[in-house]
Amino acid sequence: KVEIRSVHKTFGPLHVLRGIDLDVRAGEVTVVLGPSGSGKSTLLRTINHLEKVDSGTVSVDGTLVGYRRSGNKLYELRERDVLKQRTRIGFVFQNFHLFPHLTVLENIVEAPVSALKRPRKEAEAAARTLLERVGLADKAEAYPKQLSGGQQQRVAIARALALEPGLLLFDEPTSALDPELVGEVLDVIKDLAASGTTMIVVTHEIGFAREVADTVVFMDEGRIVEQGPPAEVLDSPRHERTRAFLSKVL
Ligand code: ATP
Ligand code: MG
Repeated sequence: KVEIRSVHKTFGPLHVLRGIDLDVRAGEVTVVLGPSGSGKSTLLRTINHLEKVDSGTVSVDGTLVGYRRSGNKLYELRERDVLKQRTRIGFVFQNFHLFPHLTVLENIVEAPVSALKRPRKEAEAAARTLLERVGLADKAEAYPKQLSGGQQQRVAIARALALEPGLLLFDEPTSALDPELVGEVLDVIKDLAASGTTMIVVTHEIGFAREVADTVVFMDEGRIVEQGPPAEVLDSPRHERTRAFLSKVL
């Protein structure tokens, strides 16, 4: 579960997150929508402390992210404690971010072996199971550049899953893909949703949101303008800005 409280974030004069409060219950899928520049990526990045908040708190499964509390003061965690927290939170990027010089299998095995000290043989067996799950059992020895965008993104998802994260964050996972490859990636994410993985997905795929989301969040100018079940937010939005946005993406 994720609890975001009064999060503010600025970049110099830009006030990018203007008081974000958001709860994601365990096992639920939250889809975040909003125009370019509204702060969606920044919000995701604060959740695993890739961006440091100016004020407010983020906690994941009851643990404060990036800080420890002592009395009523917060102290920033040391880098290696932040890295340890991050192993519990999977992040899938728009542009896959696979290691180009490693095979598919090596890409997936790298983090469990180096960060979690898993024996390589065990990590490889787990990786092959994950590749089966994303439909790429036959690609273990391939290099990323030999794969389609959709296949690379499915490898990236398998790599995120290899750390057995309690939470998965997706930042526009299908935006860089040719239209005919979007479906295969969304199907993998749907399958994860059905298995009860807690996820926050930034996407413009409204059909996916309607089908998979427990909650849809609409952001604009650093604020959550409205949130609720997909049927409410997508079919009868209460705010003019949500309506205007949906009329453009639908
Ligand atoms: P998009 O749909 O285009 O991905 P977004 O909703 O994800 O947009 P963000 O990437 O969170 O938006 O950016 C929000 C604002 O913060 C934008 O104005 C962006 O230019 C600015 N911004 C983001 N990261 C930085 C940074 N590291 N330094 C300065 N400004 C930044
Ligand atoms: Mg973004």
